[in-house]
Amino acid sequence: MKKRASGFGIDELPRIVRGRGSYLFDAAGKRYLDGSGGPAVFCLGHAHPEVNAAITQQLHEIAYAYRYLFTSSALESLTETVLHLCGGGFQDIVYTCSGSEAVESALKIALQHFAARGLTPKRRFIARRRSWHGNTLGALSISDFAERRSAFEGSLLDVTFVSAANAYRRPDGVSAEDLTGHLAAELERTILSMGPQSVAAFVFEPIVGAAGGVVPAPDGYAQAIQAVCRKYDVLMIADEVMCGSGRSGTWRALEHDGVVPDIMCIAKGLAGGYIPLGAALVTARVAAPIHAEHGAFMTGHTFTGHTAACAAGLAVQHIVRRDRLLDRVRTVGATFQDAIRRTLSRFDEVGDVRGRGFFIGIELVRDRRTRLPFSAERALSFDIGARAFADGLICYPCSGNVDGTAGDTLIIAPPYNAADGELEEIIVKLARAVDAALSSA
Ligand code: PLP
Repeated sequence: MKKRASGFGIDELPRIVRGRGSYLFDAAGKRYLDGSGGPAVFCLGHAHPEVNAAITQQLHEIAYAYRYLFTSSALESLTETVLHLCGGGFQDIVYTCSGSEAVESALKIALQHFAARGLTPKRRFIARRRSWHGNTLGALSISDFAERRSAFEGSLLDVTFVSAANAYRRPDGVSAEDLTGHLAAELERTILSMGPQSVAAFVFEPIVGAAGGVVPAPDGYAQAIQAVCRKYDVLMIADEVMCGSGRSGTWRALEHDGVVPDIMCIAKGLAGGYIPLGAALVTARVAAPIHAEHGAFMTGHTFTGHTAACAAGLAVQHIVRRDRLLDRVRTVGATFQDAIRRTLSRFDEVGDVRGRGFFIGIELVRDRRTRLPFSAERALSFDIGARAFADGLICYPCSGNVDGTAGDTLIIAPPYNAADGELEEIIVKLARAVDAALSSA
């Protein structure tokens, strides 16, 4: 494994001192435009005065009270807000401090659901190739990200993987029209071969983030998969940690597909990076046997439902709604994506530009026709990311989307309130970085 000072190919990390809106400033006074919010986190940019005021106010009252002893208005209001934003499909929320914990909680809730129903053999998970669900052992077990798993192989859960739902990289011999049917049939075959009585849940990212470089599933996929899951009493867990909370233009990414999963995980955009906050949302159907048999979810941590984190999440969601930012993400996102595609079309190595809302992926290939990737050793996406960073643009380079090792993608995920001029600056600097990297040996 190649050693890097950061996973982004940056040799020496600058010291951050300040953020304002879509910009960050380091100790040397250099300015960085936040074109990806790190890994798609900062939906309102940095140092938003209203979010900071809400957090400060909460800190003045009380920073945190333990969830087994107290509730709080921040927690109750955030719960009410999120359930409402989700359109009423969910009943319960289990808060966490990260996306990995949200996924871990979802896995445990699925297991607890079947235990409560007396179906204890239902213990196994099915996940997808080229997916990322987090760094805790359970979340890592359901992730197909070779570089991040390799040091832990042997101690991970025995998870079965099915194909990614990637229209740009379809299984051999499968047409775009047949892709959804093919993938649904593969899932059904997999459940049958494992034995439906042993399968607890199927876990997927509705729009794959870091492991694929923003890959929305084809239309109809989520419905087809849900039908298969329902047929065999397998729970459907949607990991919306990166693509959800409005990032793709609807509050839930699966809103686009008209599907409510059994359990949904969210994190990054929920509190917009102001304080760590994630959650697993649970439908009444999944929660009912748990409440009846066990009384409560058997998962959670000391800081679950941290009061100041809930106040941050509440403030972020209030502003996103009040300022109609999802309308902006949807409409401006479409023109922004078109502009990126147009600008980068002059590079033969840009094979695909895709995504939804302010969640855009760019895939680089050695040959546009064959879609063959560059060698992993070339580390092209990290090269582009490092050049963009040096030029004052943060984007999110990813690797391994083709076969776990080779494949270069870049994620662009600006704050929902980034100004038009800032979006233009992203495109200019991005094109400059792609040009410089491709022109170098
Ligand atoms: N799930 C998805 C889809 C993610 O993109 C990530 C992080 O990038 C996670 C889960 C894990 O979240 P965290 O890094 O907050 O633990």
